[in-house]
Amino acid sequence: MDTPWGYPDFDAHESVHFIDEPAHGLRAIIAIHSTHLGPSAGGCRFWHYSEPSQALTDALRLSRGMSYKNAMAGLPFGGGKAVLLASPDRHKSPELLAALGKAIDGLCGRYVTAEDVGMSVADMVEMRRQTRYVAGLPTDGNVGGDPGPHTSLGVFLGIKAAVRRALGKHGVEGLHIALQGAGSVATGVAMHAFAEGAKLSIADVDHHKAKKLADAVGGNVIDPEEVLFLEADVVSPCALGAILNQESIGRLNTPIVAGGANNQLATAGDGERLQQRGILFAPDYVINAGGIISVCLEYLGETQAAVVRERIDGIPVRLEQIWAESAETGRDPAAVADSIAQRLIGRA
Ligand code: NAD
Repeated sequence: MDTPWGYPDFDAHESVHFIDEPAHGLRAIIAIHSTHLGPSAGGCRFWHYSEPSQALTDALRLSRGMSYKNAMAGLPFGGGKAVLLASPDRHKSPELLAALGKAIDGLCGRYVTAEDVGMSVADMVEMRRQTRYVAGLPTDGNVGGDPGPHTSLGVFLGIKAAVRRALGKHGVEGLHIALQGAGSVATGVAMHAFAEGAKLSIADVDHHKAKKLADAVGGNVIDPEEVLFLEADVVSPCALGAILNQESIGRLNTPIVAGGANNQLATAGDGERLQQRGILFAPDYVINAGGIISVCLEYLGETQAAVVRERIDGIPVRLEQIWAESAETGRDPAAVADSIAQRLIGRA
């Protein structure tokens, strides 16, 4: 594996920690991109990577994304991310979670973790035995716990803002939304959209998940290969990153792309490609900040659900500001968002 210096996704990360504890089945990377605004915060991903270099790429890109996301959400946190390399002999176990908890504790609060893909509230509880630098823990009220529903709410509010701007409509009633994914974030988006009268098309590589969600919201199940290219009012990517590239953007058939998946643009130039096609894009780390807002406020001891809701209500407001600046300057929304975020973290 290359060293991070000169590595394509290395962006002056403050530190990158490689953890290898075969006795506990733990191999992980913790990337701290920036602590300019406060301790770095970002979820912990448990994923099977075919190459270790892919895990490093993920950790570097996702931690930078967290710096931008936390800054844009107005949170007093920097950006970091933990990536665990799963394999047949490295499965999730209490020993692995304890070892990871100790490694995070060793960073003395420079990194605060929470759930991401492949990690659950129960896993956070297990790590909490070793370190206090963890959030997304079960709580009595509506603050904290699983970030998924908070992310879904923010994404749905963002979709409505995009509909307002691109289609001049107030609300999603009668509109067709194509959802890529039927997991935690997509499920919440689908439920909100269904409650407000949208028609849904849903795709997941796990057909049973797609079918279950489609049945719950009276939607159609779509082939995962086709979902991005449906004729729809909104395409909402809520599964994977890097799905918007030269080829896929050319085949989109929608005026709006607004979804919860991280790092949707394969390259920086893809934001401009969307703009050239007249497609309104909601920068992912702005629209999907609901979960980290909840997690960070929980970590700071907030107990009022209304405070979390108020912060999540700020997501469509920020999107509006980005789209307005984009319209004024001619720069695409992703580039506008990046510039604002870089200014906020002192890297203009
Ligand atoms: P999840 O694991 O619950 O759901 C993801 C779903 O995507 C799974 O059902 C999976 O089968 C499906 N999927 C994978 N590849 C696919 C493909 N090619 N086509 C269609 N479906 C596919 O994860 P989640 O928590 O819902 O997160 C979804 C995305 O949102 C991820 O990119 C994640 O990083 C991002 N995100 C999540 C949160 C959160 O609070 N959970 C917050 C911010 C961003």
